[in-house]
Amino acid sequence: MNLILMGLPGAGKGTQAEKINDKYNIPHISTGDMFRLSIKEGTDLGKKAKEYMDRGDLVPDEVTIGIVKERLSKDDCKNGFLLDGFPRTIAQAEALQQLLSDLGESIDYVLHVDVPEEKLVERLTGRRICPTCGTAYHIEFNPPKVEGICDKDGSQLIQRDDDKAETVKRRLAVNIEQTKPLLDFYQEKGYLVTVNGNQEIDDVFKDIQQKLVK
Ligand SMILES: [Zn+2]
Repeated sequence: MNLILMGLPGAGKGTQAEKINDKYNIPHISTGDMFRLSIKEGTDLGKKAKEYMDRGDLVPDEVTIGIVKERLSKDDCKNGFLLDGFPRTIAQAEALQQLLSDLGESIDYVLHVDVPEEKLVERLTGRRICPTCGTAYHIEFNPPKVEGICDKDGSQLIQRDDDKAETVKRRLAVNIEQTKPLLDFYQEKGYLVTVNGNQEIDDVFKDIQQKLVK
């Protein structure tokens, strides 16, 4: 099962990725992990990517795509894979089509975990962090025993600047603009399946399993 996972920040992609990984025995491949692995293994592409990253530059597509190819050629991808965070652009999506066809593979599904924007704002702005131990809470979904206070060490919880409403809305808007063409691209190719991410975690996963029929 060759999958691509899509969804906006806060849609619960990470949680569902873990469940998919457990159930279907396919590796969850996030872009960050993929780069870290190539760099750690010291492959030529990893070295190249590191040069760009050390300079604070964007890694060019041909390097990124080479790293994706390295990763997808590994043994643990024999049953398939779950790509998360790649592709980000149409150019990358087209390169991925070519790469997979070179490997004699193709995408089975592009899984879109869909949550309405206002619900995402609710989820993302409700985060609170303990500045002392780093524990994350959520005012609605995972509240501390005493409001505003860390369960573990009694510190006053804080809201990170990243989690404030204005920042969250801006980040979502950028993401929506970036994702829309990709969703259209995969819709047109017939790969796109959308699941309602605005329900309990286990119900989202039930829907995913129903849609992922081979
Ligand atoms: Zn704490």
